[in-house]
Amino acid sequence: MGLIVQKYGGSSVADAEGMKRVANRIVAAKRDGNQVVVVVSAMGDTTDELIELAKQITPIPSGRELDMLLTAGERISMALLAMAITNLGHEARSFTGSQAGVITTSAHGRARIIDVTPGRIQGALKEGAIAIVAGFQGISQDTKDVTTLGRGGSDTTAVALAAALDADVCEIYTDVDGVFSADPRVVPSARKLKTVTYDEMLELAASGAKVLHLRCVEYARRYDLPIHVRSSFSTNEGTWVVKDHPEGADMEQAIISGIAHDKSEAKITIVGVPDRTGVAARIFQAIADADINIDMIVQNVSAAATGLTDISFTLPKAEGADATGVLQKLQGEVGYASIQYDDQIGKLSLVGAGMRSHPGVTATFFGALSAAGVNIEMISTSEIRISVICREADIERGVKAAHTAFELDADQNEAVVYGGSGR
Ligand code: ADP
Ligand code: ASP
Ligand code: MG
Repeated sequence: MGLIVQKYGGSSVADAEGMKRVANRIVAAKRDGNQVVVVVSAMGDTTDELIELAKQITPIPSGRELDMLLTAGERISMALLAMAITNLGHEARSFTGSQAGVITTSAHGRARIIDVTPGRIQGALKEGAIAIVAGFQGISQDTKDVTTLGRGGSDTTAVALAAALDADVCEIYTDVDGVFSADPRVVPSARKLKTVTYDEMLELAASGAKVLHLRCVEYARRYDLPIHVRSSFSTNEGTWVVKDHPEGADMEQAIISGIAHDKSEAKITIVGVPDRTGVAARIFQAIADADINIDMIVQNVSAAATGLTDISFTLPKAEGADATGVLQKLQGEVGYASIQYDDQIGKLSLVGAGMRSHPGVTATFFGALSAAGVNIEMISTSEIRISVICREADIERGVKAAHTAFELDADQNEAVVYGGSGR
C-alpha cells in the first residue's frame, strides 16, 4: 500500500462530466489499496474568467482581494469533486489550502510556500478518507491572509504536499499524455519523452513549457520526488520527471530533449546609455527595487568610440508598464537618450543535457531558423539551454523548423490534445 498524490488540472475537471470521470480514476487508485490525496485546479478557464471579471470592476485590483477571488475557483472544484467521490460510495473530504497547512509568504499573486503542516490531511487519511485539496493557494505566515502561488501553481501545491507527506509518487494529470519534445498544440509531430531530468524540466518550465509550474520542479528536485506527468483522459504511461535518465537511455538520448516557446515577454531597450562604471548597476537596482523580474539582458560596448551603449532586456509583459515608469524617472540621473518598448517578441529555447557534449548545436539551431526566415534579436545560453528572442509572429514557424532540424519529429503523430482551450 502506498501514498499517492494526484493533481488534476482545470481542463480535466472542466465540467460535471469531467468531475465524474476524474472521481472514477481517484476511486480506482484507492481501490488498488493506496492512500490518496488529490489536488485540484479551478474548472476549465475559471481563473481567467475571474480575472476578467475583476478587471471589469477595476483596472488594478488589490492583491489581497484578487487572491480571495481567485482561490474561490479551486474551492468550487474541491467541493464538487468530493461530492462526486462520495456518490461512488467512498468517503472524501475537501480542504482549502489553509486547512491543508500550506503556509506561504505574503506576496499576493506570487506567494512562495514556506512550510506545509498537513495534520488534517493525515487525519483524514488515517480515517480512510480521500483528501481533496484546493490547489494554488495557501495562507500567509505573517498576515494570515489567503494567498495564491502564481498561475499554474496547483502543480506546486501537489509536489509540496507529496514531499510533506513523504508520498511514493506525485501524479500530475493534464490534457496531454506527458511532456513532449515541443508543445503538442504547436507541433503535432512532437514526441512524448519517457523521462526528463529535473534540470531539463526546470529549463523547459522556465522557458515557457507550461505543462509543469517552474516551482513544482524546483521542489521535486530538492526532495528528489519523482513526478509522473500524464493525461487524465487516457490510461497511457506518461513522462517521468526524475534526477537522471535511466541507465542505457543515454545511447538513444537525443541531443535536444525539448523545445519551448514563450510569448508572454516584452523587450525594453535603453538607447544611448553612457558607458560608465556603475550605470548598469544603477538601472538594474531600480528595476529590482520595484520588484520587477527580468529575464535576458544584452549589452555590448559600442565599437565606434561614441562612449555610448544600448542595453536591452526582456521581462513579463505584465510588468512592462511598471518598468518603463521606473526607467523614465532615471533618465535625468543616468542620461540615456530614449527607451523603446516592444511587446511583439517571442522566446524560443532548445533544452537538452546532451548539448554539453555536442558543439554543433548552436550552428544547427541558427541554420534552421535562418532557413525558416526567422531573424534572431537576442541570444542567451546556459549549460543545457540556448534561447533566442525573435518576432512573436515567427515563433511557431521557428519551433517547427528547429524541431525538424534536430530530428525530433515522430514517425507517426502521437501527440493528442484531449481538452483545454490552450489559454
Ligand atoms: P493543466 O490545466 O492540466 O494544468 P496546462 O494548460 O497548465 O494544464 O498545461 C498543459 C498544456 O501545456 C498542454 O495542453 C500543452 O499545450 C502545454 N505545453 C507546452 N509545452 C509542452 C510540452 N513540452 N509538453 C506537453 N505540453 C506542453
Ligand atoms: N487555477 C490556477 C490557474 O489557472 C492554478 C492552476 O490551474 O494551476 O493558474
Ligand atoms: Mg497547469
